Amino acid sequence: MLFHALDTMNTDEVNSVKKWISSVLDDQEFMSETTDLVLACKDGTTLCQLVNKLKPGALSEEWLRSPQSVDDYGLNLELFLNCLRQTFGIDEDYLFNPQYLIEYTRPKTGDFSLPLVSLLTTLQQLMKEKPPRTRVLKSTPLKRSKEVSSDEDLLKSLRRNFSGEIVLPSGSYDYATSRSTLNKHVNALPRLILRPRNAHDVSLAIKFAKIHKWVIDVKSRGNSTTEFGVRDNSMLLDFKLMTGIFIDQGLKTVTIQPGACWADVQKAVFPYLVVAPHDSASGVGALLSGSSGPLVNSHGLPLDLLLSAEIIMADGEVRTASRKT
Ligand SMILES: Cc1cc2nc3c(=O)[nH]c(=O)nc-3n(C[C@H](O)[C@H](O)[C@H](O)COP(=O)(O)OP(=O)(O)OC[C@H]3O[C@@H](n4cnc5c(N)ncnc54)[C@H](O)[C@@H]3O)c2cc1C
Repeated sequence: MLFHALDTMNTDEVNSVKKWISSVLDDQEFMSETTDLVLACKDGTTLCQLVNKLKPGALSEEWLRSPQSVDDYGLNLELFLNCLRQTFGIDEDYLFNPQYLIEYTRPKTGDFSLPLVSLLTTLQQLMKEKPPRTRVLKSTPLKRSKEVSSDEDLLKSLRRNFSGEIVLPSGSYDYATSRSTLNKHVNALPRLILRPRNAHDVSLAIKFAKIHKWVIDVKSRGNSTTEFGVRDNSMLLDFKLMTGIFIDQGLKTVTIQPGACWADVQKAVFPYLVVAPHDSASGVGALLSGSSGPLVNSHGLPLDLLLSAEIIMADGEVRTASRKT
C-alpha cells in the first residue's frame, strides 16, 4: 500500500490533506504553502488534536500538549497510532512508522520524502472517517464532553459501593479493550464501562442504569459477530474480572462466572476426566446462543445441561433460576 502511494502522491493530495486538517482544527496555518506537513505533525500534538476533534474523548488526557523531547514526541505519536488502530479500526498497513516523523528534517522543496508519503497515507485513511456530528446525532444529540462531566457527577454515588472497575470514555487501554469485540466493524463508544467483580456489583450497575435511564449492554468474551453487544452511549457491563470456574467433584457440577470462556472451562475440568460441553474462545454469551459443537449430537447443547443460573433482574434483585425454582 505504501509503495503504491509513493508512485501516485502529488501536490494536490498534500494540499487536500492540509485543507482537511485546517477545516477539522479550524486552523488556517495548515493552508499555507510554506507549512511543512510532517514538521507540523512531528511532535504528535496536531495528530492527537485531530482524533479528539473527530471523536471527542477518543484520546484521554495522557497525551502531551507541550512535548519537550523526542521521547515525548514518540509517546504522542504512539497514542495517536493506537487510537487509529483501536478506535478508528484503521489497518496496520496504512499506519506510518513514528520513527520516520521523529527523525524527519525538511527536504529540498518539491521532494516527496518517505515520512511525508507515509504520513499522508495514514491521514488519508483518517479522512474517510465521518465528521463526529453525523454519528452523535444518530444516537443522541447530547455532546460527549458534557456527558463525561455529568456522568462523573452521577458516578460519585456508584463509586462508594461498587467494588469493580469503572472505566470512563477516553483513549485509554482499558476503555479500548473493554469496548472492542471480535467483530472489528463494531466501533461503538459506550458512555460508561463497568467491570463488576460480583453479583452485587451487577445489581448496583443495573439499578444505576435504571435510575438514569441508560441502555445496558453486556459483554462476556466479545465473540458475538452481531452489533448488539456493544453500542454507542450505552452502559457496558464487561465481565472481564469475573472469569472464575468452580468445580464440585462430589456433585460433578461446574459453576462458571459470566466472563469465563469455554476453552478455560475445558482445561479446568480436564484433570477430572470429564469434558465440558463446549470448547472455544466464546464465553457465556455462547451459552445463551446455543454453543453448538462436536458433542451436540451425543450430549445436547450446553444450554440443555444448565442446572441453574444466578440472574440479576431488571430491578437489580438477585435471583436463582433452576428447574426447581
Ligand atoms: C471464531 C468464532 C468461532 C465460533 N464458533 C462457534 C461454535 O463452534 N459454536 C457455536 O455455537 N458458536 C460459535 N461461535 C459463535 C459464538 O459462540 C457466539 O457469537 C457467542 O454469542 C459468543 O459468545 P461471547 O460470550 O464470546 O460473546 P459476547 O459478544 O460477549 O456475548 C454475546 C451476546 O450475549 C450477550 N451476553 C453475554 N454475556 C451475557 C450475560 N452474562 N448476560 C446476558 N447477556 C449476555 C451479549 O450482550 C451479546 O449479545 C463462534 C464465533 C466466533 C467469532
